[in-house]
Amino acid sequence: MGNDGGSINKAHNLKLTFETSSKNESLDVKEFNDNSKWKICRLSGKKLRLPVVSDYKGNIFNKDAVLEWLLSPSKEEYSQELIKKFAHIKKLNDVIELQNLEEAYCKGEEDEDLIPIGLKCKFGDDLLGSSSLQYVYLIPCGDVLPRDALNLTKNSVCPVCQSNFENKNLIPLNPTFLDDEYKLQQRINELDLQHKFHNLKPKGSKKKRRRNEKQLGKIAKR
Ligand SMILES: [Zn+2]
Repeated sequence: MGNDGGSINKAHNLKLTFETSSKNESLDVKEFNDNSKWKICRLSGKKLRLPVVSDYKGNIFNKDAVLEWLLSPSKEEYSQELIKKFAHIKKLNDVIELQNLEEAYCKGEEDEDLIPIGLKCKFGDDLLGSSSLQYVYLIPCGDVLPRDALNLTKNSVCPVCQSNFENKNLIPLNPTFLDDEYKLQQRINELDLQHKFHNLKPKGSKKKRRRNEKQLGKIAKR
């Protein structure tokens, strides 16, 4: 395994050169978007750096960008497109911090320079988004794994932390299949009916609050 790091770095360098040199050329926009989804925070447009979080749709964000988003009630500094796209992120419970990831670097011009080039799942050696491997994360633990790694576990136990999960709480990262998107939407609709957040924590529902207020009212009248 000793030589793997070197060859990977070389491959990443080549990739970086390709990306920068092709910026001004007629780049396939879709291909660029598909690749950048794995490297760029959807909210801030900055490079993805740990810790990162994901919403119910499998989008990846820098955690600090989501915190800033949540701390800005007016959202003045965000475009209408972003406000519409990520209106479902209202609380920290609407995202989950992803685990089992590490940052990958390549060497810069100076030997000491390390340039972050993306995120890697600790399971395997691929940079996220660099291969056709499909990655998923599990709820509630947040561990990221290649989808294939999960077919091995029959009883739905996370291979990383050994916690149990239900198959419906397996979220594909940056899903490309409409079927996946449909299932994710269905899942969040069901959770909504159960007054639960994306991370499965219960919501303090209005109904419950009203019921409690009514009961308090009765008690007060006694
Ligand atoms: Zn886990």
